[in-house]
Amino acid sequence: MNTDLTEIRGHVVVVMAPMGSGKGTIIKSALEEYPTVYETVSCTSRAVRPGEVDGVQYHFLSLEAFDKKIEDGEFLEWAEFAGHKYGTLKSEILPKLAEKQVVIVEIELQGVEQLLELLPREHMTITYIEAGGWEVLRARAEARAPMGEEEMSARHDRFLIEQKAKPIADVVIDNSNDLESAYSEFKTVIEDAFKKCK
Ligand code: 5GP
Repeated sequence: MNTDLTEIRGHVVVVMAPMGSGKGTIIKSALEEYPTVYETVSCTSRAVRPGEVDGVQYHFLSLEAFDKKIEDGEFLEWAEFAGHKYGTLKSEILPKLAEKQVVIVEIELQGVEQLLELLPREHMTITYIEAGGWEVLRARAEARAPMGEEEMSARHDRFLIEQKAKPIADVVIDNSNDLESAYSEFKTVIEDAFKKCK
């Protein structure tokens, strides 16, 4: 397996977004339209949510198994977020980058800060997808499923943390009311990333 950081010929498209921004829909469309684009599958110590499948959305690990991988130096980056650990395995991303591929990584701010230290800046485009302010996200979440005050307050705290990522983005995509135009902006990011592979 090639895990040499000097062998990077592909391009990393980082996607950051608050929960409920619609990033999942945008990424899914891009993966369908560009079959050579790869989205990394992260590891997490959090519990599986309904509808999630091990190895698809995440590799779901026990905290002990996660910590062992940290110890063994298997992660390119990892972070603790909302009480759980999340990380990108070197084996998930580096071989793809060595093979000139465009790779989407959907991670939070602390992870992006680590990637900024590790990868040459010209090999990485940071995007932030936003969907309006808290009131819009709150209304969307309530429309989807009824939620208690406590859960809504936890979501609000999380929104405030996630929003801090916006200033480091190279590209900010507005997905508050026009999914088609948001997707078209994301396509431009992907097509520019193809041009930057060498
Ligand atoms: P969720 O639990 O809602 O799936 O994800 C929580 C947060 O963890 C999201 O902001 C997501 O982007 C982030 N995340 C997912 N995978 C990784 C990863 O491998 N590394 C880091 N640093 N963050 C991740």
